[in-house]
Amino acid sequence: MSFYENTLKNMNKSAKLMNLDQETLDTLSHPQKTLMVNLPVRMDDGRMEYFEAYRVQHSELRGPFKGGVRYFPQVDLDEVKALATEMTFKCAVVGIPYGGGKGGVCCNTKEMSEGELERLTRKYVQAIYQVIGPEHDIPAPDMYTTPQMMAWFMDEYSRLVSQYRPGVVTGKPIEVGGSLGRGTATAQGGAYVLEEYMKNNNMDASTTKVVIQGFGNAGKYAAEILHSMSYIITGISDSKGGLYSEGGLDPQCIDKAKQEKGTVQACNLGTPITNEELLEKSCDVLVLAAMENQVTEENMKNIKAKIILELANGPTTAEADEYLTKNGTVVIPDILANAGGVTVSYFEWLQNHLMYYWPLEEVQTKLKRVMIESLNRILGFQQKYNSTMRMAAYVSAFDRLDKAKKLRGSGAHLRCKVYNK
Ligand code: GLU
Repeated sequence: MSFYENTLKNMNKSAKLMNLDQETLDTLSHPQKTLMVNLPVRMDDGRMEYFEAYRVQHSELRGPFKGGVRYFPQVDLDEVKALATEMTFKCAVVGIPYGGGKGGVCCNTKEMSEGELERLTRKYVQAIYQVIGPEHDIPAPDMYTTPQMMAWFMDEYSRLVSQYRPGVVTGKPIEVGGSLGRGTATAQGGAYVLEEYMKNNNMDASTTKVVIQGFGNAGKYAAEILHSMSYIITGISDSKGGLYSEGGLDPQCIDKAKQEKGTVQACNLGTPITNEELLEKSCDVLVLAAMENQVTEENMKNIKAKIILELANGPTTAEADEYLTKNGTVVIPDILANAGGVTVSYFEWLQNHLMYYWPLEEVQTKLKRVMIESLNRILGFQQKYNSTMRMAAYVSAFDRLDKAKKLRGSGAHLRCKVYNK
């Protein structure tokens, strides 16, 4: 089953559970607009290389399209559609006034120079700038995209429209209109949800063993934040492999090794293990912070974690989610667990519009409130429908989306596709 089919399956199941209006389900089962473009980029050696790129605008029922852009060799339309759809649900789960969108460029950032990445980013903006904007569609970072790229993005867009428009993109560096706390927000939001869940279930961080898959925008900060909250981090990995130590690892040392030598395993702590082994280690909390389709029908029976915190998008398939929940694992779903990122993106966008910037404590206090309120709302639906937490999260989102659709009337959510290839 593809990632998008998996997302539709989650939507269909939750819609059935809550007896959702069929028209609302149908409307949200298709993206509003799909833009596919080819980006010709001059490489350092003088060659012209062509990159496939996408922007999928899934829904603007609750506000402008919102969602990141990923740079990854295997990006395809199915994946971007799934991610765009998830953004609509994520924004509705945390109640921020956005719809959902997502972008992607097929490229390998590890093989590209800084100059090539800048030219690629500017080309992408040139290709999509007419369909985005601070009140229309607001991109952000995702896998392998960075604050520096968002700065180029903002600069190119502002140049094209001849106006300073920092609110066209979020996840920017502080110096060019970023928000304090945005870089760590995905992990921080997940940590707030986990903390609240642990408190409700009388669990203590200092005796809780955590394994983290992924050491990018989400996993790296999850390791640091959870370590500072006195969780024991027993396993960490990146795309090249992992490290494991029963007694606990020091995320700072791993970060240093990763920065200097490019891999987590370059740190001489713990025992080297593969990513597959890492997922199957005994632990209390497994943080999935890499990418989609990691816990599937193939390995679900070997997962021993008591709690899974999904900081990545779509890391657990629908079948695995069902199986794990039946067998007592609590899966805190992506559309809640990683929504801290887009929530602080919203705060960044607000600050851009206000031209007034908040201190870190203000960002974090507001983020914590959003995350805990969203968790409690989901727990309420979970009790009402006796469902998995993922189904309850979808119900929570559908509830808001359905109300918005009914209030706006039948003209809302015009469906049309733009193919430009
Ligand atoms: N890419 C992140 C996500 O999947 C952040 C999106 C945003 O900030 O708009 O949630």
